[in-house]
Amino acid sequence: MSLLIYLDGAYVPREEAKVSVFDHGYLYGDGVFEGIRSYDGRVFKLMEHLQRLFEGAHHIMLEVPITLEEMAEATLETMRRNNLKNAYIRIVVSRGVGDLGLDPRKCPRATVVIIADKISLFPQEHYEKGLAVMTAATRQRCSNTLEPRIKSLNYLNNILVKIEAAHAGMMEAIMLNSQGYVVEGSGSNVFIVNKQGELITPPMYLGILEGITRNTALELARGEGIPVKEDIFTRHDLYTAQECFLTGTAAELIPVISIDRRVVGKGVPGPLTQKLMTLFHAYTHSNGTPVY
Ligand code: PMP
Repeated sequence: MSLLIYLDGAYVPREEAKVSVFDHGYLYGDGVFEGIRSYDGRVFKLMEHLQRLFEGAHHIMLEVPITLEEMAEATLETMRRNNLKNAYIRIVVSRGVGDLGLDPRKCPRATVVIIADKISLFPQEHYEKGLAVMTAATRQRCSNTLEPRIKSLNYLNNILVKIEAAHAGMMEAIMLNSQGYVVEGSGSNVFIVNKQGELITPPMYLGILEGITRNTALELARGEGIPVKEDIFTRHDLYTAQECFLTGTAAELIPVISIDRRVVGKGVPGPLTQKLMTLFHAYTHSNGTPVY
């Protein structure tokens, strides 16, 4: 049976799920998107993801043609139509069909797509043994050009970082901003544990995506009484960290064991990382909006 895709209110087989070449999402990357996971038939942090999507749309003055509640229901229905329990859900709201000019006013109706499928970002062995990463030469696009909190369809900066990683034989790269502070991965947030045993992640004001997995990791750590700081740090702090891990909806929580070939800690997933991974697994598998 072919995967059914939600496309502007209809559920269509993947082969027929097509969008116009005049859609400004295609022509200009004009739109917003979300990546969401479901575990055991429950969609994890559905409302938080939809809130971020609608806030991004509001910022770019993109009128979503359905309400947040309708979007939630359409997401659950897409899961049901495909009989899915564990899925990766992609929601895309693009500006819609217009002419060849930039003007979004020429696009009367936004296009809404919901895909519920699978994703495997990193091979399973790296969740057990950890991941070797690098810092990218490609800097994060200046945050006063395009607000990094908007999960926009304009992902070229991140794709360039991913290409750089692939060329170096790495699966992920960490970006620095123009001032040299660590900001985020190509599709993930970054955490380190310092010598004092503090868990540190870059603060929002540096210009990063406010990761829903990041916030979950912070919440779980605080709940365990682990000292947590949202603070700026540099490549030196990455190299001298006791532990490091990345978070993201697709990546989940993955340990990092080397950065630019500098071994992190003992070169194996650290105790705090492992503890948070266990807590994260338990939390994701016992929370979320029921699909069925
Ligand atoms: N930063 C960037 C640039 C991302 O694309 C993502 C993935 N959405 C993240 C961080 C992690 O965010 P989340 O945990 O909400 O998936």
